[in-house]
Amino acid sequence: MEGARFQSVVARRPDLRLPLPPHFASRLEGQRVNSLGRRGKYLVAELSSGDVLLMHLGMSGSFGVTIDGGEQVLGDFYRARGTAFRHDHIVFEMSSGATITFNDPRRFGFVDLVASHALPSHPALSALGPEPLARDFDAAVLARACRGKKTSLKAALVDQRVVAGLGNIYVCEALHRARLSPRRRASTIATARGLPRDEAHRLTAAIKRVLRDAITRGTARAGVADDADTESSDFRHRFRVYDREGARCVTRGCRGIVKRIVQGRRSTFFCPVCQK
Ligand SMILES: [Zn+2]
Repeated sequence: MEGARFQSVVARRPDLRLPLPPHFASRLEGQRVNSLGRRGKYLVAELSSGDVLLMHLGMSGSFGVTIDGGEQVLGDFYRARGTAFRHDHIVFEMSSGATITFNDPRRFGFVDLVASHALPSHPALSALGPEPLARDFDAAVLARACRGKKTSLKAALVDQRVVAGLGNIYVCEALHRARLSPRRRASTIATARGLPRDEAHRLTAAIKRVLRDAITRGTARAGVADDADTESSDFRHRFRVYDREGARCVTRGCRGIVKRIVQGRRSTFFCPVCQK
């Protein structure tokens, strides 16, 4: 997308989770993508028109990229990409020759067009917490955000206002790496004055580590189209706890068995022995 123009844009339906912005296709056609970035879980494409195209995958959305009739492999993902044509809701034909298709079976995804200067105050972005991989996200920032919070640590970490971009899987993974129980009260990683305890330092380091590892694996695999022996179940081996209910804990010296509980209607996987 970056550096290419939208040659044609087809929106096959008027809405995803929310209605598409008015004149969606005509406001994109002819515009160039000056840069493609990300904030939290939102993809942010800055356009030559001065607008920004905001995109969010929701629960089940994905982008497919086809170049010269061949599907470009973008990396592999825990959930297989939807491929049913009837869920291909938006199709971008780019001047680079790429066709970019947004597929979303459950339609929790989201696209919007906003003037660049209005982006920081956009309701989707204005309340987002810090980027977990940014240098200024540290134990002090996390402790301050969790100070006095009576919710579980798991709930605090999936809250995009506390830290932006973490989802269910990587919260489970980071808590395991930090040896912290998902059930402990969020405020327990901070002192009464909101200063970081040791737990906040461990957790911040663990969050950065699991995200960096995941990104490294994703980019390392992107473009490896002939990697036919990869089975989706292989994904499980890359997780420490996620989707490993009943398996042995991977923490050295720990004899715990990974357990699954439900928090906030989402599955949490953790080791009840080494995560305190
Ligand atoms: Zn364990």
